[in-house]
Amino acid sequence: AVESKICILGGPGVGKSALVVRFLTRRFIWEYDPTLECTYKHQTTIDDEPVALEILDTAGQEWTLHREGHVRWADGFVLVYAVNDRNSFEEVANIKQSLDEIKKTNVQCVLVGNKIDLLHEVRVPYTEGERLANDWACAFFETSASDGGDEIYELFHELHREIRRR
Ligand code: GDP
Ligand code: MG
Repeated sequence: AVESKICILGGPGVGKSALVVRFLTRRFIWEYDPTLECTYKHQTTIDDEPVALEILDTAGQEWTLHREGHVRWADGFVLVYAVNDRNSFEEVANIKQSLDEIKKTNVQCVLVGNKIDLLHEVRVPYTEGERLANDWACAFFETSASDGGDEIYELFHELHREIRRR
């Protein structure tokens, strides 16, 4: 099988773990240990091709500690913010910048605005996320880990395709 190593990054509480668990199990659990850093192996099929995904769900403190190692390890990144949290949007831009600096190149990534189910609390409109993704020349998705939906599968598949294209 073809392999892709995918690292999930973003500010605290944006729903990184919820998205990964939704993708892997099709379920939503309300609480995850925010300090737990975890790697999952997942066999799947993308575009009729067997694929072995390794997914690293990072957690704040650990990430800072192992930053450079993680960046070298990964083939691509899922950069997550929460649409109801402006700080998390700024943070994801900072993260992307440090990734590019560490990798010394424009890294493969997808941008994800999560918690789109919180319709009445949206602080980052779709167009802003889209614009940032355009700047980075990467794909953009809005998701709800709690509601589910095809975007969650699509974002992992799209990142894998991008990695393969390189
Ligand atoms: P992480 O720190 O980025 O891994 O965030 P978690 O996955 O632990 O999620 C943080 C909190 O946000 C938890 O209470 C989740 O239940 C909640 N959460 C995650 N995704 C969503 C979502 O799409 N919608 C809503 N309403 N809550 C979410
Ligand atoms: Mg987490």
